[in-house]
Amino acid sequence: MREEIEYQFRTDEEFARTLDRDDPLSFRDHFFIPESKIYMDGNSLGLQSRNARQGVQRVLDEWKTLGIGGWLEGNPPWFYYAESLGAKARGLVGALPEEVVATGTTTINLHALVSTFYQPHHGRTTILADELNFPTDIYALRSQIRLKGHDPERDLVLAPSDDGRYLDEQTIVGMMTDDVALVCLPSVLYRSGQLLDIKYLTEEAHKRGIPIGFDCSHSVGVVPHYFDEWGVDFAFWCSYKYMNGGPGSTAFLYVNKAHLQKEPALAGWFGYVKEKQFDMNLEFEHAQSAGGWQISSPSILSSAPLEGALDIILQAGIENIRRKSLMMTSYLMYLVDEILADGPSTVRIGTPREPARRGGHVALEHEEAMRICEALKVRGVIPDFRPPDVIRVAPIPLYTTYHEIWRVVQNLKEVVDTREYETFPPERNAIS
Ligand SMILES: *Cc1c(COP(=O)(O)O)cnc(C)c1O
Repeated sequence: MREEIEYQFRTDEEFARTLDRDDPLSFRDHFFIPESKIYMDGNSLGLQSRNARQGVQRVLDEWKTLGIGGWLEGNPPWFYYAESLGAKARGLVGALPEEVVATGTTTINLHALVSTFYQPHHGRTTILADELNFPTDIYALRSQIRLKGHDPERDLVLAPSDDGRYLDEQTIVGMMTDDVALVCLPSVLYRSGQLLDIKYLTEEAHKRGIPIGFDCSHSVGVVPHYFDEWGVDFAFWCSYKYMNGGPGSTAFLYVNKAHLQKEPALAGWFGYVKEKQFDMNLEFEHAQSAGGWQISSPSILSSAPLEGALDIILQAGIENIRRKSLMMTSYLMYLVDEILADGPSTVRIGTPREPARRGGHVALEHEEAMRICEALKVRGVIPDFRPPDVIRVAPIPLYTTYHEIWRVVQNLKEVVDTREYETFPPERNAIS
């Protein structure tokens, strides 16, 4: 979605119902919607679909009836599962089939890729990241710097944010200096929902001879990507958020075709040239595909939900999903502006207004965000809380309705107006 869109919304309930009636893209029937809940947390854990469930059931049956035979006789064969899921997902990220593989988990894939692409040399020793990234990325980048014998205090440089919400691409580019060996950034910021300009950042990094990779956990499945066209060097993302693969489902990684001859730095036998893997040679010969970055046997049971989950996304079409997502987040922000922006119930929007600059969720800011979130959950509305003051609300195009968005805002108004949140303790749960 590159064009700007003008919407004409209204605040009444009937209007929300009209939007649902006129909606060409609902796949809600394919999903199990938690009973009497309004589920707005699909950006943390997407819901289960019948299709995802069928994939798991089939693999369980294959294991039951085929035993070890499933590696070659499964449908698709487990031995090629990672590659076939990668090929299936490629359209979501604008890649060739051999550039994407379903493997490992997000942070593991970061390690596998950064260890390969971070090659400090000739005074270029720095990794440029940002201070708003998801913490696991920062922990992992620090440890990668240490493993290369460098000092993360000096060699990890974080692009700052002026307001704790957003990053400025110009600032990041200004920090792409001669000492930078690698840039590693998120696509969508997990808190504010800002979508970075991946194309621009990639061009600018390459002008300076710096490889660049992206953590797209918060965008794949809701925002289209064009990695090949943009020339991104590598990317990785989880599959349990907008891809609806289930808790801890197998993650993905992408390596640009220009780099497929590179030796993966964290070798393992599933990265071997496939036809020769079972020769059991002690010399490692890596596959010249994204599959070369696999380390271990694929987690078949954690991959199986993805087949069906991907079928739905492909059937809906990622461009259509994006169009509806933008309309839904615009509608949500409109309602918050109209109903909640004044007086005692002030709730601020901490997400970019421009469609091209935001991902799939909206950040609502309030100093009592944590307790408001708890109050909403008791009412059956499921958003999530991110410290210090953000309530994240994600309308999921495949299964959220406009009427649910309308009800979320009504509930929020009641909770805030009556200070219902004050009955909740100020301590936080282990998972929020
Ligand atoms: C969700 C998310 C992760 C999660 O990492 P795991 O290794 O899957 O636990 C990492 N990075 C970002 C940006 C995320 O949004």
